[in-house]
Amino acid sequence: MKRRHFISNTAKSTGGVIVASSLTTLGLFSGSSSRAGEKRGLGVALVGLGSYATGQLAPALQMTENCYLAGIVTGTPSKADSWSDQYDIPAENVYNYQNFDRIADNDDIDIVYIVLPNSMHAEFVIRAAQAGKHVICEKPMATNYEDCQRMIDACRKAEKKLSIGYRLHFEPYNLEAMRLGQQQIYGKVLESDAGFAFPLRDKSRWRLDKEMAGGGPLMDVGIYAIQSTIYTRGQLPVSLEAMDTTVDKAFYGAVEGTLDVNFEFPAGIKATMRTSYEESSNYLKVQAQEGSWELAPAYSYGGLKGQTYLGPMSFPAVNQQALQMDDFASCILKDKQSIVRGEMGQRDMFIIDKIYESAAIGKPVSLKGIPNILHLV
Ligand code: NDP
Repeated sequence: MKRRHFISNTAKSTGGVIVASSLTTLGLFSGSSSRAGEKRGLGVALVGLGSYATGQLAPALQMTENCYLAGIVTGTPSKADSWSDQYDIPAENVYNYQNFDRIADNDDIDIVYIVLPNSMHAEFVIRAAQAGKHVICEKPMATNYEDCQRMIDACRKAEKKLSIGYRLHFEPYNLEAMRLGQQQIYGKVLESDAGFAFPLRDKSRWRLDKEMAGGGPLMDVGIYAIQSTIYTRGQLPVSLEAMDTTVDKAFYGAVEGTLDVNFEFPAGIKATMRTSYEESSNYLKVQAQEGSWELAPAYSYGGLKGQTYLGPMSFPAVNQQALQMDDFASCILKDKQSIVRGEMGQRDMFIIDKIYESAAIGKPVSLKGIPNILHLV
């Protein structure tokens, strides 16, 4: 396998994001310089200035070409001050959760990006749509399937686009895993195993609060393993069986500490996944008829590695979040559908609800009725 071959395939499969201009021109290699205050394309307001907004999204918005950081929504006045200084955000583009709806009158803001704890996603996506804004919502889309429908309906009614922060659909190693599996480069996929886990034992974190998080590691990192299991095949599972394999049930309480899931795909093809707050893992392993491939780490913000049975993969480092946000802005500008649209978040919430159902009843469950949404490369 030649490096040039991989790169050209990656460019094709990103729907033109990389093709349109070189990565260097786009400034999407990690480490671009700050461009605070410079207006480029559509204005984005980040809602909830926590660790992901601070560490990943705001820096990525200094590298984007089709959109830029135009506003912030925060419940913490000190963050309003420090962000305004750092990113040159005018006072009229700074909101809190109470006066947020006034964003409807602000022409600088085209896209509202919800980066709040999971249980707040539905309310703020709906309020953003009602304010006439396009919306990006972080994963998991909500804490149950019905809320996802309300969010989709609100955006449809407002004639605004809704996408989910599924950054790995813009990441070269994951795109290569999709290409190898979906295009059956080494024959049909026979089985796969995916895992994403990290230790979390701080009870003060909302991620361990059932009300705010909606669940445990499945809601947080397990959703990536669901995603990779599906996009490796470009097919939907037909049934699943889930087991709550938490070791320290007394500590985790209402949320799972560890979950194992067995999926069945058409023709009896199997997949397994595991997610946990009690250990560490970050991988995707796939066996096809004529060969295999593996990503590890598979889901990090950078430093991904992959190999096929023929040798290592080699792709350039990209800023996933910048590519993801630029693609959404481009979808708005060209009136195209996002590859990670709201319905994909709803599909994953359908699966998550079924995983919890299966773990609770201790039996396999059918996935009949799963929304038929796939990112095909
Ligand atoms: P944090 O806890 O670091 O930040 C959440 C922010 O939400 C807070 O800083 C706060 O911002 C605001 N907030 C408002 N009300 C509350 C409340 N009652 N309790 C806590 N925070 C509140 O979370 P993350 O940034 O890690 O995660 C936010 C979302 O992003 C989650 O849905 C998560 O799943 C998702 N995420 C996605 C990632 C990805 O790779 N796609 C990676 C990490 C997270 P303020 O002070 O400004 O009001």
